[in-house]
Amino acid sequence: MKQTILFWHRRDLRFSDNLGLYAASQQNPRLVGVFCLDPGILAREDLAPVRLAYLLECLPELARRYRDAGGRLVLLRGAPQERIPALAQALHAASVFWNEDVEPYSRRRDTEVEQVLRASGTGVCRFWDQLLHSPQELYTGSGQAYQVFGPFWRKWIRLPKPKPVGEPRGLESLLPSEWRAAQGEIPEMLDPQTDCRSIRRQAGLNWKGDLPAAPGEAASRQMLHEFMENRIASYHTQRNFPAVAGTSGLSAAFHLGVLGIRTAWAASCRAERQSFSAGASEGVQTWQQELCWREFYQHALWHFPGLADGAFRPGWDRFPWENREDLFHAWTRGETGFPMVDAAMRQLNSTGWMHNRCRMIVAAFLTKDLCIDWRWGEKYFMRHLADGDLAANNGGWQWSASSGMDPKPLRIFNPCLQAGKYDPRGDYIRTYLPELGAVDASLLISGNIPAGQRGNYPPPVVSHAQRQAEFRALYARWKSKLAPGVPGLSMA
Ligand SMILES: Cc1cc2nc3c(=O)[nH]c(=O)nc-3n(C[C@H](O)[C@H](O)[C@H](O)COP(=O)(O)OP(=O)(O)OC[C@H]3O[C@@H](n4cnc5c(N)ncnc54)[C@H](O)[C@@H]3O)c2cc1C
Repeated sequence: MKQTILFWHRRDLRFSDNLGLYAASQQNPRLVGVFCLDPGILAREDLAPVRLAYLLECLPELARRYRDAGGRLVLLRGAPQERIPALAQALHAASVFWNEDVEPYSRRRDTEVEQVLRASGTGVCRFWDQLLHSPQELYTGSGQAYQVFGPFWRKWIRLPKPKPVGEPRGLESLLPSEWRAAQGEIPEMLDPQTDCRSIRRQAGLNWKGDLPAAPGEAASRQMLHEFMENRIASYHTQRNFPAVAGTSGLSAAFHLGVLGIRTAWAASCRAERQSFSAGASEGVQTWQQELCWREFYQHALWHFPGLADGAFRPGWDRFPWENREDLFHAWTRGETGFPMVDAAMRQLNSTGWMHNRCRMIVAAFLTKDLCIDWRWGEKYFMRHLADGDLAANNGGWQWSASSGMDPKPLRIFNPCLQAGKYDPRGDYIRTYLPELGAVDASLLISGNIPAGQRGNYPPPVVSHAQRQAEFRALYARWKSKLAPGVPGLSMA
C-alpha cells in the first residue's frame, strides 16, 4: 500500500484556509481526513445540544468537499487516544497532521495521541491554525504572558498578519481494495454525509430549535461577506444594541473553525481599504479588536490552564458567594423581574446565542446582584451556547465577576441603566418577553411595571440599589481579610 497522510479535524471544520490540512496535502495528496466524536467530550455535562447539532450539521459539507477534491473524510466514534492510532495503522499512514488547541483537556489528549502514534513509528505534525498569532509569539518585555488586554492589543495589532492559505486540490483516493482492508480493521468507520443526521436524532443529543447561525463553511463565508458588505462600517456604533443585527454572528463558526481566522482578517483589511469614511474605518478596527479579545483569552488559557478550574485573581476562589439556588433558577429561566436580564436569558434558552452586551449584563447581575458564584453562570452558558468556548466564556465570566484579567478592581452594572442605554425603545425586551409587549418602554427599562400590567411576569427578585450596596460592603470586608501574598495562578 502506498503511504498516506491522515489529517485529524477537531476545531477546524473547514477545507480552505486550514494550515494543517493544506500542509498535509502539499506533502502527500494521498490524504484521508478524520473527525472523531470523542466520548470524553460528548459525556461532559457542559456540552450544549445546540453546539453539538451545529457541529454535526457542519460535517457533511466538509465530507463533500473532500469527495469533490478526490479524497475522503471518515467519522469515528471513540477515544481519540485509541481510534486515531488505530485508523493510522489501518491506512498505513506515514504521519498524522492536526491543528493545535489551547484547552487543557485537548492538550492532554493530544500529548497522549502523539505518544501512541510515535511509539508505533507514525509521524506527527502539528500547526497553529485557529489564531493569527500563537501564544508563543507574544510575551511582555519581561518575557511574561500578558495579563492585561490593552498592552496585548497594542503589541498584537502591530504584528504582520498571516495570509489565508488555499484549499487542497487533486487529492488521491485510496483504492477500493485498500478501503475494504481498512474497513475490515475499523468496521465502525462512519460516513459523515449519511451518519451525522442519525447521530443527531439519537436521544439526548437533539436540539429541536433552529440553529442560531447557518452551519458549514459556505454559509459562514457568506455570512462574513454579508457582514463586510453591509455592517462592518457601522459596527462601532451598532454593536452594543441587541435589537439591531449589528455584529457578525460568526462566533459559532470561529469556535469550531468553520471559518478561517486568516480569511476573516483579510476580509476586514479589504473592507478597511474600501472604506470611504473615517467612521467606516473605525468600524473595521473595532471589529478587529474583538478578534484580538478572542486571541487574548485563548493565550490566557494556554498560559494559565488553571483558569479552566478557577479564578485568575488570588483569593477569589474563596469569595463568600451566597449561592441561593432559588435565585439561580429564576436567573436561568428568565424570571428575575428585571426585563433586560430576563429577555437575554430567554434569548439564550430559545436560540442558543446571546448578544455580547446582554452577556455582560446577565453575568454582572448573577454575580453582583444575586451574589452567585460566576462558575455557576459559566457552566450554564456552556450548556446552552452554540458558540460556547472555554477560553472566551471563562474570560467573559471572570471579567464580569471581577475575578479575572481586568485592571478595574470591581465592576458593577446597573441592569436598568444598561437597558435604557442599549434598548431604549424596549424592542429587544419585547421580542423575548412577549407577555410585556404592550408595556411602555420607560417601565420596561426601569423594571417598575405596575401589577395590573405585568400579568404573570414576576416582580423584581431583589432591589438593585440594596444589593449593590451589600455587595460593595461584602467585597470590602473580604478584601480586608484577604491575606497578602495569596498565590495567583501559575504559568504553564
Ligand atoms: C459572560 C460572557 C461569556 C461569553 N462567552 C462566550 C463564548 O462562550 N464563546 C464566544 O465565542 N464568545 C463569548 N463571549 C464573547 C462575545 O459575547 C461573543 O463572542 C459575541 O457575542 C459573539 O457574537 P458575534 O459573533 O456576532 O461577535 P462579533 O461582535 O461579530 O465579534 C467577532 C468575533 O470576535 C470574537 N469576540 C467578540 N467579542 C469577544 C469577547 N468579548 N471575547 C472573546 N471573543 C470575542 C468572537 O469570536 C466573535 O465571533 C462571552 C462574553 C461574555 C461577557
